[in-house]
Amino acid sequence: MTTVEQPTAVRARPQGLPTHIRHYIGGEHVDSIGGQTFEVLEPVTNTVYMTAAAGQAVDVERAVAAARNAFDHGPWPTMKARARAAVLNRIADAVEAMDRRLAELETFDTGLPITQALGQAQRAAENFRFFADLIVAQRDEAYKVPGSQLNYVNRKPVGVAGLITPWNTPFMLSSWKLAPALAAGCTVVLKPAEFTPLSASLWAQIFEEASLPQGVFNLVGGIGEEAGDALVKHPDVNLISFTGESATGQVIFRNCATQLKGMSMELGGKSPAVVFADADLEAALDSTLFGVFSLNGERCTAGSRILVQRGIYEEFLARYVERAEKIRVGDPADSATEVGALVHPEHYAKVLDYVEIGKAEARLVAGGSRPADLPEGNYLRPTVFADVPRTARIFQEEIFGPVVGITPFDTEEEAIDLANDVMYGLAAYVWTNDLRRAHRVAQSIESGMVWINSHNVRDLRTPFGGVKASGLGNEGGYRSIDFYTEQQAVHVALGDVHTARFGTS
Ligand code: NAD
Repeated sequence: MTTVEQPTAVRARPQGLPTHIRHYIGGEHVDSIGGQTFEVLEPVTNTVYMTAAAGQAVDVERAVAAARNAFDHGPWPTMKARARAAVLNRIADAVEAMDRRLAELETFDTGLPITQALGQAQRAAENFRFFADLIVAQRDEAYKVPGSQLNYVNRKPVGVAGLITPWNTPFMLSSWKLAPALAAGCTVVLKPAEFTPLSASLWAQIFEEASLPQGVFNLVGGIGEEAGDALVKHPDVNLISFTGESATGQVIFRNCATQLKGMSMELGGKSPAVVFADADLEAALDSTLFGVFSLNGERCTAGSRILVQRGIYEEFLARYVERAEKIRVGDPADSATEVGALVHPEHYAKVLDYVEIGKAEARLVAGGSRPADLPEGNYLRPTVFADVPRTARIFQEEIFGPVVGITPFDTEEEAIDLANDVMYGLAAYVWTNDLRRAHRVAQSIESGMVWINSHNVRDLRTPFGGVKASGLGNEGGYRSIDFYTEQQAVHVALGDVHTARFGTS
């Protein structure tokens, strides 16, 4: 349970901040049937600022029934692609129109720096626009066997999709699931993370403004082990798209298995950034700093292990530390802030534990403590460990905060070996000006995504996902549409079909 500290200072609150948020089921804002609620903290003073309805199995039942009804009897699944795309574009317009408000609320609830939260709000709009375009351009296969058979793919939305999202960039990440699920014609029940439920509560208004038919979008707030668990186990939910920790993914995997339910899992990461001696050092520094300290380090694709070739190791380290120490940590609502407050005191405590573990495992060269001028709130100075051995827990385990480990290597083979010597395989970053080596190393790294000479800049058409403990299945572009649709093969005889005549002799 969360301990609520009494703040010494009252934080300025966004205007119109709700004091209570409810589920959104079948077009209505409703509380839990049994009246259960949970408290929501903001991470700058760690005080409760609102309550939220805590969904139980009966509330999930109600939401799934609404989604099922909208799927079985509503217009959405069979609507023409162009008409569905028009709704998605109106959703994108509405998100864009309120991007500053979204950023303000997201920042208040999550502690993400406001400029970065604004970028995430705009990305959410882009996700809807992208899938609106994609669904209109969707094509399917047809094969003919001349004169005898025509075979084609009848693509159908899968049904009711259960969408379970984490607390980092909550609004953007929910758009990453909502946009393709809705584009495909599914109806949905969204269960946002309990640490950060505020921004998801804005979807109801956005969808109403965009005239999404009632019951297509439903939201149930609540605790993972209650509302999330009930959603996963509900027999009328046809598939689950989950983003969160690998350990939670394992539980959900097991629960889906009993019903052979379709799943897509975007899980944790411990992504390497490999910097060779011939790299553009300035660009590599910019990118590896941004790669782990943006979004407060609460980023699944964070380059949290930097592997640096021995010849430039000392210079890289010195310059990295100098820059890390100058990163502006402060009020997330201040547009000059580069690192804000970590999302929740429980998570903050976990990150601080890792900092203590790291002190015994490697050399602390920057950060490692709260900034002196920020006596309360979940603030941590950007923390850098040097000479991190591969056996260290801070090398192997996801910390999910502004903490990075730097490790030297000598050869390309050693770099690849180090990069792959963890259970995760989400992203990787390779820095070198040697074209052949760049591709060789990129292709040898066990990860779902690799960026060469860049940080995480996405092309929405490409696959997004992890290997090993970082995920199951790929989303992104048409793969997302494939996930939310069934592809039924229809075989049509064009003439008489020769059939062996059983039972005639
Ligand atoms: P989490 O696993 O604790 O929770 C994620 C969601 O699952 C929440 O909504 C939670 O309520 C719900 N949940 C928890 N237990 C459940 C259960 N038994 N059944 C059903 N639902 C349950 O993750 P988090 O701490 O919110 O998020 C951080 C994690 O997410 C990190 O590991 C990060 O790497 C990962 N992440 C991955 C990606 C990616 O694309 N690979 C993106 C963002 C975050």
